[in-house]
Amino acid sequence: MPNLHPLRTLLARTAWGLLLPLLLLLGPLGPLDPAGAPAQTQADPERGAALRQVPRVTAERGMVVAANPHASRAGLEMLRAGGNAVDALIAAHFVLNVVEPQSSGIGGGGFLLLHLAERGETVTVDGREEAPAAANSALFLRPDGTPEPFYPDRITGGRAVGVPGLLSALEKASRLYGRLPLADLLAPAIRLAEAGFPVSPRLAMLLEQQQERLAQFPATRAAFFRADGTPLREGDLLRQPDLAATFRTIAREGSIPFYRGDIARDIVAAVRQAPVRPGGMTRTDLSAYEAPLRAPVRGTYRGHTIVGMGPPSSGGATVIELLQLLETQGPPPHRPLSAESAHRFAQAARLAYADRGRYIADADFVTFPLAGLLDPGYARRRAEALDWVGPLVPVEPGLPAGAQTGRLGTAPHRESSSTTHLVAVDAEGNVAAATSSIEQAFGSGMVVPGRGFFLNNELTDFSPRPVDGKGRPIANRVEGGKRRRHTALDIPRSLGGKRPRSSMAPTLVLREGRPLMVIGSPGGSRIIQYVAWTVLLTLDYGMDLQAAIDFPHFTHLFGKTFLEPGWDRPALVQRLEALGHDIVVREQNSGLHGIWIDPATGRLHGGADPRREGLPMGY
Ligand code: GLU
Repeated sequence: MPNLHPLRTLLARTAWGLLLPLLLLLGPLGPLDPAGAPAQTQADPERGAALRQVPRVTAERGMVVAANPHASRAGLEMLRAGGNAVDALIAAHFVLNVVEPQSSGIGGGGFLLLHLAERGETVTVDGREEAPAAANSALFLRPDGTPEPFYPDRITGGRAVGVPGLLSALEKASRLYGRLPLADLLAPAIRLAEAGFPVSPRLAMLLEQQQERLAQFPATRAAFFRADGTPLREGDLLRQPDLAATFRTIAREGSIPFYRGDIARDIVAAVRQAPVRPGGMTRTDLSAYEAPLRAPVRGTYRGHTIVGMGPPSSGGATVIELLQLLETQGPPPHRPLSAESAHRFAQAARLAYADRGRYIADADFVTFPLAGLLDPGYARRRAEALDWVGPLVPVEPGLPAGAQTGRLGTAPHRESSSTTHLVAVDAEGNVAAATSSIEQAFGSGMVVPGRGFFLNNELTDFSPRPVDGKGRPIANRVEGGKRRRHTALDIPRSLGGKRPRSSMAPTLVLREGRPLMVIGSPGGSRIIQYVAWTVLLTLDYGMDLQAAIDFPHFTHLFGKTFLEPGWDRPALVQRLEALGHDIVVREQNSGLHGIWIDPATGRLHGGADPRREGLPMGY
C-alpha cells in the first residue's frame, strides 16, 4: 500500500501584508529520492512547502508571475514604467535574489526563453554555469574511484561551484532585447536589500533545515543568522547591505566587475579558500564566461508548437519527446485523474527519460542526435515497440537517427531541487521566461564574503562517474578544458569548460504561431513531467492554467510512481499496482509559474503554484 505521509497543518500568516490566504505548511518528510537514484539522505530541501488558494488573476495589458510577490511587483513596476516583458523578467529576477536567495541568484545560472512579438521569433539565452578549466572527471570521485556521497558532501563548499552564468545572461538579454537601463532594473532589488523585508515562511523553513550546513561558512552566518547564532525566523527583518552594494556596483558598471574585477576576485577567493572542499576556479574561468544565445528546440503536440530550451538543458527536448510519444497513443484518456492516464504518462516518461539519460549533455562537448530525438517519426517508431497498456517493463534508450550504437553509457538522473521559474508578458505580446537555479537550496552553502550572494553547487548536476558499468563514457561526465564546438548563435570564440546537463524547461506553447501559454517549474528532473503534465491538462482537458497547476501531481521516475494526495484513491492505486507501479504518496516540489494568453481576447491569465509563495500580478 502507498505510504501516506501525515500532513501536519500549521496556520501561518503570510508576511507581506497581502491578502493571501492562510498557508498550510506541510510536515517534514522522510527521504524522498528512492532506490534507482543515489540515496538522498536529507528531507528534500525544496519540496512543496505550502498549499494555499492562489487567487485567479487576469489582466489586460501585462503580467508577471514569480515565486515571491515582491518579485512579481517589481516586474509589474517595470511594465508600468514603459519596460517590456524582458525588463520585467530581469527586474523580478534580481528581486528573487534578495527575497528567495535559497533558489537562484547571480551566484548561479539559468536559462531565458524570450519570444519577440515583432519578429515572431523565439530566442534562448544559455546562462548555465560552466566547469572551471581545471575540472576533470575525477572531480567528485573518492580515491577508491567511487562517487562522494551527494548530501551534504558533494554539494557543499568550493568544489561543486560552477562559473556563475545568470548575470551574463540577464545583462545580455537586457542589452539585446530590453528597453530600460540595467540600473532601473536593479532598483527594486537594491531597495529591498537595503530596507529589508520580513523573512518568508519558506525561507525560514529552509534556513532551519539547512542550518548545520550553512553554519560552516562565516559569511553565510553573518548574512542569514541571528546574533545568537540561530538562523533567521519567519517574520524577522532581513537586510542585505552587502548584496545591495554588489547590485549598486553592477548598476553602475554592468557585469565587468563580476567577471573581471573585484567581485571576480572575491568569488575566486571564496571558492579556492573554502573551509570545506575548496575548488579550483580561477579568474581566467570567470573572465572567459559568456552566456550564448542558442536556438530553441521545437516540437509539436496536437497541433500546437512547443518551443523549449535546448542543450545543455535536457528540459526542452525531453518535454517534447514525452509529449510526442503521448500523442502517438491517440486521443487522451477520458479523465486526467485515472489509472489509464497515469499509466500512459508513465510509459511515455520511461521512454523519454531513457533517451535523456543516454544522450543529452552539453552539445558543445558531446555529439548526440538532438534532431533525431525531436522527430515525431522517431516518437512513432519508439512507441511501436512498447505494449502501452501492459505492465511497466524495463526500457532501453532508443536509436534516433544519427545515434551510434553502443557508443555512450547511461547514467542515472539525479538533480535535486532548488530553483525558481518566472514569466512575464507585455502589452505588445512579448513573452519572457526564465528557469534559474543555484541547484540545491542555498547552493554550495557559501555566501561570497562581502558580496552577499550564494554560490551555486551546479557542478553536481554532472554525472559523478565518467563511465558506466560497461566502461562506456557517460555523455554528462565532468569535463573542463576548452569548448570543442560552437552550437551557439552568437559567440565566435572559444569558451571555457563543459556545462552540466540540466532539466530546466522554460516552455512556450504556440497556437497558429502565436503564444498561447508560457510555463516552467523548478523540481530537478521532475521539472520535465510537471511541465508536460500542465501542457496536457490545459490542452487536452481544457483546464484553466491555475486549475492545471493546482491539480495534484503525478510523476514517474527512478522506477517509482509519485502521487500527490488526491490521486491516492484505493481503486486507482490498486489498478496502478497491478500494472507494476511502485507507489509513493507525497506532495511534490514544483513551482509552476505561467501565463495563458486567451487566443480570442488576448486576456492574460496567471498561474502560480500553491506549493510555493508566488503570485501573478498584472495590469
Ligand atoms: N539543478 C537542476 C537542473 O538544472 C535544477 C534543480 C531543481 O530544479 O531543483 O536541472
